[in-house]
Amino acid sequence: MRREAEITVIGGGVVGLATAFGLLRAGRRVRVLDGADSDLRASQGNFGLVWLQGKGAGFAPYAQLSRDAVALWPDFAAEVQEASGIDLALDQSGGYEFFTEADEFSAFKADLEAQEATLGNRFSHEVIPGDDLRRSFPEIGPGVVGATFCPLDGHVNPLRLLRGLRVAVTALGGEIVQGAKVEKVTPVASGFEMALENGSRLDAPRVVLCAGLGAAPLAAQLGFATRVRAQRGELLITEKLETRLPFLSSTIRQVDEGGLQIGGTKAEVGPDDRETREMMAGLAQHAVTVLPALADVRVLRAWGALRVMSPDGYPVYTRSAAHPAAAMVTCHSGVTLAAFHGTKLADWLEDTAAAPDLEAFDEHRFALSASA
Ligand SMILES: Cc1cc2nc3c(=O)[nH]c(=O)nc-3n(C[C@H](O)[C@H](O)[C@H](O)COP(=O)(O)OP(=O)(O)OC[C@H]3O[C@@H](n4cnc5c(N)ncnc54)[C@H](O)[C@@H]3O)c2cc1C
Repeated sequence: MRREAEITVIGGGVVGLATAFGLLRAGRRVRVLDGADSDLRASQGNFGLVWLQGKGAGFAPYAQLSRDAVALWPDFAAEVQEASGIDLALDQSGGYEFFTEADEFSAFKADLEAQEATLGNRFSHEVIPGDDLRRSFPEIGPGVVGATFCPLDGHVNPLRLLRGLRVAVTALGGEIVQGAKVEKVTPVASGFEMALENGSRLDAPRVVLCAGLGAAPLAAQLGFATRVRAQRGELLITEKLETRLPFLSSTIRQVDEGGLQIGGTKAEVGPDDRETREMMAGLAQHAVTVLPALADVRVLRAWGALRVMSPDGYPVYTRSAAHPAAAMVTCHSGVTLAAFHGTKLADWLEDTAAAPDLEAFDEHRFALSASA
């Protein structure tokens, strides 16, 4: 019979599963309660970038955290693969940001300079004017005014990441309970009592809330101030191409199986994940401006998915002041940060001597800014 879990992770997306993976590696008995297929699930609709360019240009702790995560990725991917037998298709050979507007290009150059000032020799990038770019890649269209390149950027297959984490968590002795939507959490002397939507009740000495956009009601019950919001992103998927794209970019990437993902839209529309004709057309236009040869490639699918955004867009790693046995973890860029969540975050959750300093990501920053 399975021994009772020491830690219950609420939410089985990439954030909850990576967190569970790290805790299991640290020797904890872990249970993951995950909701329903009908839930909003960013981990099933994302772009799969393991990306550093532009991250934390205005917030040094986030630049450092993203840089740490990117460095942790090769070992993390190998560990997930070893435990699950699933190849995550990690490729970290560098990535481009392409620009068609001169003012956006200039603003991003300034962001990367700020990032380099923060990260020093842990970051490097190139700024490439359009004509120089076309000397290296003649297939790039005349409408591209320039690009930036960071050799540390990369990508994975995001669905294999999710499946790999699920299999790895189970292989390491974790329990994943599907269809286990937590409706109510009640703090009690021994920890927490949870009422599930399916009518069952569970006890948990410690909980980590990682429920993505489903976190809001539970966050309030556990005394957290963080309230996440949805931000819609839309993607196009093309037919598989015989040839390999010569580069990875933040808006056009070729997945390991051959198709292209074209993406990058952002819309503040609340909990509505429908794709729109307007955004689809814009994505197609952008792709053809960057690579005119894509005009002949067929688009097979399109979807919208909702990002999980904290009030300031940066990650939240916080313990409940009212109920210290509860922690909350939420972030955008949960793919990039998965390597951190699956390794060093466990030291923070366990409060070991090796715990990373995550004070800058505590939720008290929202209370301070509200009263400022
Ligand atoms: C279009 C798009 C592109 C993106 N591109 C990238 C990218 O290139 N790189 C990158 O790093 N990040 C990217 N992201 C962000 C990344 O996908 C998210 O940060 C990440 O998936 C968030 O994972 P999560 O586990 O917090 O949330 P989710 O994936 O939403 O998972 C939350 C889970 O919690 C469960 N749940 C909810 N409520 C409850 C409850 N009450 N009880 C139990 N379970 C519950 C749900 O069923 C769900 O499985 C992108 C996101 C989008 C939408």
